[in-house]
Amino acid sequence: MNRTKMINLICEKRKTFDFVVIGGGATGLGIALEASSRGYSVVLLEQNDFTKGTSSRSTKLVHGGVRYLAQGNISLVKEALRERGLMKQNAPHLVKNQSFIIPAYKWWVQPFYTIGLTIYDLLSGSLSLGRSLPYSRKKTLECIPTLKTKGLKGGVIYHDGQFDDTRFGINLCQTIIEKEGIVLNYMKVTELIKEQHKIIGVTAVDKETGKEFKITSKNVINATGVFIDNIIKMDTPNAKKMVCASQGVHLVLDKEFVPNNYAIMIPKTSDGRVLFAVPWHDKVIVGTTDVKKENAELEPVALEEEISFILETAGRYLAKKPQRSDVKSVFAGLRPLAMSKEGSLKTKEISRGHKIIISKSGMLTITGGKWTTYRQMGEDVINRITKYSNLKQTISITKKLKIHGYKENVNYNNSLYVYGSDEEKIIALATSENLEGYLSESLKIINAQVIWGARYEMARTVEDILARRTRALFLDAKESVKIAPKVAKLLAKEFGYNKAWETNQITNFKSIAANYILN
Ligand code: FAD
Repeated sequence: MNRTKMINLICEKRKTFDFVVIGGGATGLGIALEASSRGYSVVLLEQNDFTKGTSSRSTKLVHGGVRYLAQGNISLVKEALRERGLMKQNAPHLVKNQSFIIPAYKWWVQPFYTIGLTIYDLLSGSLSLGRSLPYSRKKTLECIPTLKTKGLKGGVIYHDGQFDDTRFGINLCQTIIEKEGIVLNYMKVTELIKEQHKIIGVTAVDKETGKEFKITSKNVINATGVFIDNIIKMDTPNAKKMVCASQGVHLVLDKEFVPNNYAIMIPKTSDGRVLFAVPWHDKVIVGTTDVKKENAELEPVALEEEISFILETAGRYLAKKPQRSDVKSVFAGLRPLAMSKEGSLKTKEISRGHKIIISKSGMLTITGGKWTTYRQMGEDVINRITKYSNLKQTISITKKLKIHGYKENVNYNNSLYVYGSDEEKIIALATSENLEGYLSESLKIINAQVIWGARYEMARTVEDILARRTRALFLDAKESVKIAPKVAKLLAKEFGYNKAWETNQITNFKSIAANYILN
């Protein structure tokens, strides 16, 4: 995964590609993998780093969506449950089976959710992750000893998947390259190239050098999440808005708040949503919220009311109420929801299904969906285009395609487990270049991970390393600021940059991290 090599490939080939995909989040990566694995030539262009947008800010669940079942959206739940099983099957090093407990403080909660979740299990068919069952009070407290005991009647256990979203994104990039696709970060699409009213390519600017590239392609796909309307406007300036952004916030707490490996699911909060507290990399993620946002941003900021809502709701179920000072990191993400025809729908009521439209000039835009359905979205897009174009007809192979890093029997207690089959190579790199020491002992990040990220995973900045190649910023924002200078030094040496670059990188990272720290 080498950026210079990727740029050279675009210049050398100077050909018309089958597909240009704009956007390097879950949706764009799923489409580029679908295209490259079916033998089409494809270039994916991301304006910042891969998964910098919404795709690094999820609840980290690979799930059918218990909430959507309650809303009666059976087809969406069924599709997502199938995709959950496929994600686990194709990337077992990143997707694991997570047990959830719904605590019951009212008599009807246990029978009601046991029945509902049994339907959930049945919908997942042969890809089920385990049966949902009612649990006694004693067993519920054994799983989650930190629950408030007053009034607790028992619980219900069910299973869903859990993953690391940005690591999955990087592994998708690697798989695309292995299938001869091209992926480029820091390459912003600034213009659509048209000929006789048809789109025949894009102009993109390399944000590192300012150099402009004209890339011609038979098909251009707009998979830019909450930014899709900006690209649509390049095509049709007076087009109607297609995306509606809804913000969701998560707080990260120390593991002591939910000490075992069981997650908590609160099925009905005061705003009529669900709240999760999920163990993740030795911490606990608590969230989320659903607040309509007018503007698309790459670094959305959590609102005070979202933070207090999460702390207060979690505090109603936990014996020790979490305080602001307990928050290790706060992060916000924007859901790219397909704008509802009704317009008046609240964001929590808008379907999480995906929507595809093709403009008169031939650009395909996709919006909506979930991380869990990224593969199905890719398949739908490529099927739709190849059906009507003169491209060779092909059949999807991604249902059984192993993702880079594939490894069975993973030891999730090993902090390098997310690298899957690459783990041994990182250990070898650490030994050969004397990079075995801890960069952060509390987060169990070793120095070799920085060089690995730069050399083999196209990390370009301190933020790329601390936010997406490792998850330091999301796990403990203050600690990530502490280790930023060391990362800058290692990267500067690796890339041959000077002290001024190092200083600039640290300043940039600190200003981003400031929004992840609660004072
Ligand atoms: P993005 O990830 O935002 O990617 C779009 C990319 O396009 C961005 O990286 C952006 O930089 C790039 N771009 C924009 N303009 C340009 C341009 N001009 N040139 C080049 N690139 C450009 N789903 C689940 O399955 N499980 C969950 O647990 C879950 N939790 C969620 C929790 C929250 C709070 C939120 C907000 C969403 C959650 N989702 C979850 C949904 C899931 O995260 C999103 O559906 C998914 O990440 C959207 O991916 P995307 O590729 O469409 O958008």
